[in-house]
Amino acid sequence: MRNVTALKCISCSASYGSVPPAYICPACGGVLDIEYDYGAVSAGAFLDGLARPAPAHMWRYSALLPVDVGGPLPRLSVGGTPLYRRTPLGEELGLCEVMVKDDGLNPTGSLKDRASAVAVAAALQQGAKTVSCASTGNAASSCAGCAASVGMRSVIFVPRRAPQAKLVQLAVFGAVVVRVLGDYEQAFSLSAEAISVYGWYNRNAAINPVMVEGKKTVAFEIAEQMGWEVPDWVAVSVGDGCTVAGVGKGFWELQRVGVTARQPKLLGVQARGANAISRAFREGGEARGGADTFADSIAVAVPRNPRKAIEAVRRSGGAMVEVSDDEIGRAMLRLGRSCALFAEPAAAAALAGLVAAVEQGIVAPHETACVVVTGNGLKDVAGAERVAGGPIDVPPELAELERRLAEAAPEVMSCTTLR
Ligand SMILES: *Cc1c(COP(=O)(O)O)cnc(C)c1O
Repeated sequence: MRNVTALKCISCSASYGSVPPAYICPACGGVLDIEYDYGAVSAGAFLDGLARPAPAHMWRYSALLPVDVGGPLPRLSVGGTPLYRRTPLGEELGLCEVMVKDDGLNPTGSLKDRASAVAVAAALQQGAKTVSCASTGNAASSCAGCAASVGMRSVIFVPRRAPQAKLVQLAVFGAVVVRVLGDYEQAFSLSAEAISVYGWYNRNAAINPVMVEGKKTVAFEIAEQMGWEVPDWVAVSVGDGCTVAGVGKGFWELQRVGVTARQPKLLGVQARGANAISRAFREGGEARGGADTFADSIAVAVPRNPRKAIEAVRRSGGAMVEVSDDEIGRAMLRLGRSCALFAEPAAAAALAGLVAAVEQGIVAPHETACVVVTGNGLKDVAGAERVAGGPIDVPPELAELERRLAEAAPEVMSCTTLR
């Protein structure tokens, strides 16, 4: 907290002190943004913080986080996920380099852990006993997991279509799971009402400004893993818009405090059937649309925080693209086969978007790009099975095996070792 100077409304620019007056702007209801004393956080002070031991990777960036890293924290190890450099995707897409940041390796399997860790830390430090959110699934499981790690209760509102693996994960963490027989929009509204009735700590990403602060640590890590360089492009899938806003803020801050020399351009990727933010980016107006995509984590019809997302993409000089479910499916297989990464559909959407951006000439061959894999494929095996198919079923007989292999995988039938 030591470097937080103010919370500023992104709609009416009202500025509040470093202690939040509420989750949203009391004057106009706009979303708040946390500002730091960037003068005090010099490159030296930021880098010094990295040398000190920290309970988990993401807390190393304490100089630019809104919680007291010396105080109580969730007991999960969030962050420190691998950045794979020079993947085969570079050659496949015809780019100078494509790297992949695998945030599906976080403790509950998604980038959302970065946000939930900060939220639960803030909740703990305020003495909250119960934390709550509405979520398409990943924010839910990360919130429940971070809460369980410190014995805090969680109440999670999910839409009817949340995939089974995510629901099971919640139940295992001991969350009170409320399945709202409606869409995400309705789950969100009910959670907001219940939170105000019961006074639970509100982890809703679109409303609580600390969420973006947690998510920005993925940008810090990418730059650190590149030796304080940045790629030309960073591709991120977009639902509510909080993730891309966080990634953008992280890279902006690194340049602001003088740790990096420039910022990457953000490539915000939405599903064609759930394109509220990308349409507002292109045409202006209110961000509203459908939620028709199998990539459940980005199936958001009424994003609650489009403005931070759109401003982050604009400020970076980046672009937004839309991809079909077929393109997302192909990107899932490409990630699996070229990089051995199992990404959930919403995560593979980032790669699908990069492919589309190359085809459209938005990303040029001499450029480098980083794809952020935001969630693990094990979270939604039904979605993956739809694109990858199932096993070859055979009775336990060699002759039958040979017949089926000849149809399905003749390439493995030639003997490659000496008998
Ligand atoms: C939440 C999520 C996103 C999108 O993040 P927003 O903040 O909603 O834009 C993308 N991918 C995965 C796997 C997610 O869980």
